[in-house]
Amino acid sequence: MSGEALTIRDLRVTFDGFTAVGGVDLDVEPGDLRFLIGPNGAGKTTLVDAVTGLVKATGSVRFGEKELLGKPVHHIARMGIGRTFQTATVFEELNVLQNLDIAAGAGRGPLALLRRRKDIPEPVTRALETTGLTDLRHRPAGALAHGQKQWLEIGMLLVQDVRLLLLDEPVAGMSHDEREATGELLQRVSEDHTVVVIEHDMDFMRSFARSVSVLHAGKVLSEGTVAEVQADPRVQEVYLGRAGEPDPAAAAVPVAEEA
Ligand code: ADP
Ligand code: MG
Repeated sequence: MSGEALTIRDLRVTFDGFTAVGGVDLDVEPGDLRFLIGPNGAGKTTLVDAVTGLVKATGSVRFGEKELLGKPVHHIARMGIGRTFQTATVFEELNVLQNLDIAAGAGRGPLALLRRRKDIPEPVTRALETTGLTDLRHRPAGALAHGQKQWLEIGMLLVQDVRLLLLDEPVAGMSHDEREATGELLQRVSEDHTVVVIEHDMDFMRSFARSVSVLHAGKVLSEGTVAEVQADPRVQEVYLGRAGEPDPAAAAVPVAEEA
């Protein structure tokens, strides 16, 4: 497996005295496909925000040898770290190829980007193949199905040479078939990238996770293989025991400030 490991130590994020992430340690090896699960409000999105520089945090987040904490967002992005948001952020008016071209920053002016070209750059061709969007490359992104938009977003990270992908609920709102296709896509991508997937869907997690970290109230509650995590009584109590659905009430549980 090529690539760098993600190493998080004692990560803490507070919002006006409220602890959203309360001292998280996390190790993700290259080639892993790590699922980060946990009830609503567990701190999953905030953790990804901290890694990508969107919120202030203390502790340490290293990708390979490099420390990310304290670096500005664009700097972190340049270090090969990319994330998606729950809502796809593609350019709806532009077609698939143009979206990938812009993400690849091919160094051409805006007019050149809008012209249809015969020769597609190699990284864009590869991203089209990986995401299964080759046949849809001339379709406006706004006309893509929900799942296809998420795949395009992942493709836009791939052409930027992103080596660590942090995906926030990529299969939310997807059909069963789209979920399956996304899981297979993530397995392909994780062969040569480090991938962290925030997910609520238990069936999806069971089918595709290589390893799982369960976050609860800003802390890692449990970690291991799918089987190990599912067998953990603490996990069953806060999360898995509830018909596979996150418990909305859990979001209301305040995180105790440490003395
Ligand atoms: P998850 O993604 O696991 O559902 P979040 O990371 O979004 O959880 O949120 C963790 C906790 O932090 C929640 O209680 C949420 O209300 C709180 N929170 C998140 N962002 C902010 C913010 N910008 N200001 C204040 N509180 C926030
Ligand atoms: Mg979230």
